[in-house]
Amino acid sequence: MPSLKIDPSDRLFILTGAGISAESGIQTFRDAGGLWEGHDVVAVASPEGFKKDPQLVWRFYSERRQHVLECNPNAAHDALAVLEQQLTSKPILFTQNVDNLHQRAGSSVLSAMHGNLFKSRCEKCAIPFDDEQLYFDALPQSCINCGGAIRPDIVWFGEEPRDLNIINAVLRCSNVMLVVGTSGRVYPAADFIRKVGKQTRTIYVGLERPANAAYFDELHLGKAGEILPELLAF
Ligand code: NAD
Repeated sequence: MPSLKIDPSDRLFILTGAGISAESGIQTFRDAGGLWEGHDVVAVASPEGFKKDPQLVWRFYSERRQHVLECNPNAAHDALAVLEQQLTSKPILFTQNVDNLHQRAGSSVLSAMHGNLFKSRCEKCAIPFDDEQLYFDALPQSCINCGGAIRPDIVWFGEEPRDLNIINAVLRCSNVMLVVGTSGRVYPAADFIRKVGKQTRTIYVGLERPANAAYFDELHLGKAGEILPELLAF
């Protein structure tokens, strides 16, 4: 397989989605047929669902935490971490994943746009904190500052992804955009491709053609863990 011929002086904008973690054993949402590990997404991943049944939501995220802690970064996460060491300027890495696997592989993640499974925050005063605890039977203690309910630090349906102002500012700083394992159907990330500069080389790596395939210069189809390490070999 020919390599992507990335030059050490290239300035990369990288966007990853659930597909990059599939080979680590973390199911993508789309593959689950609209149910998330058997749950209706609105019940477990929306502010309304949390209001209605916080214990159900915490049980769901505790299961996710427990499962992801048993999973490890795969060859695709590793390849991106190695790439970072080979480039003159650090790639700008945005991920839609909440699983922390890029961080565990050693990549510098500029933004986990959809939050982080291993952080919680107060619903009212909003400051996130590291939290690997499992809450299967009891809710977390209320916020010690304001008494608000503690919720997972995840961007839920109906909420705005993080750091969009930063993304819009840095999109035009790169000369290569590399997108891995995302369907091109989750917005606003699916639109980033239309905002890069005209001279930017745009590359997609993933199992199947994304919905926004027409905007990419290159499509490399296959499992990320199998093809990305070869594609990124210098
Ligand atoms: P998505 O829209 O990013 O779709 C997943 C994509 O991955 C699909 O296009 C599929 O073809 C591709 N894919 C599947 N296996 C692959 C592989 N081995 N290699 C490369 N590509 C592969 O994401 P989604 O699953 O619809 O999830 C939507 C949102 O839900 C995410 O953006 C995220 O916030 C959250 N989510 C996160 C995780 C995680 O943190 N790992 C997992 C599921 C869902």
